[in-house]
Amino acid sequence: MKPAAQLLAPAFCMSCGGLLTDSVRFRWGALPECYRVGETARWWQRQDGSIEPPFQLLAGDSPRWNFGDPGCADVLVLDEDVTDSRLGIRCPICAFVYDGISVRIEGGVVQAPTPEKLEGIAWLRRGSVEPVKAFEVRPDHTTVVHEDWHWAARSVPDV
Ligand SMILES: [Zn+2]
Repeated sequence: MKPAAQLLAPAFCMSCGGLLTDSVRFRWGALPECYRVGETARWWQRQDGSIEPPFQLLAGDSPRWNFGDPGCADVLVLDEDVTDSRLGIRCPICAFVYDGISVRIEGGVVQAPTPEKLEGIAWLRRGSVEPVKAFEVRPDHTTVVHEDWHWAARSVPDV
């Protein structure tokens, strides 16, 4: 398993407010990494302060890599655990089933997670032939499907 980032923040059911999960794993920026809401996404850097090239396993005692484009500060990413798992995530109170959880990164800052339904995920992925999980958000709030990030991540060896 390639490492992911963890966001230590709860996601709540949109119909009843029930607690769906208290943390979310996703891939963006430095991996592995751990965030709380309001923190700025980080990137692995070289000793001279420049950002390590993304989508390459970096030297070290444990696997680490950068996912994405450090020049892109506004993105939406889907979680690594629930989206595409088929079972989704069920609200323990009202039993509504969500099909994924999204995390918005706005101006480089990690925001609170949001549960997603199948239609929302399908809309984000429109036109893509692979299950993309990272989307660029343009200033007009439209999204760009980044199959290039998806394929580059797939090329990173599993460790
Ligand atoms: Zn609920």
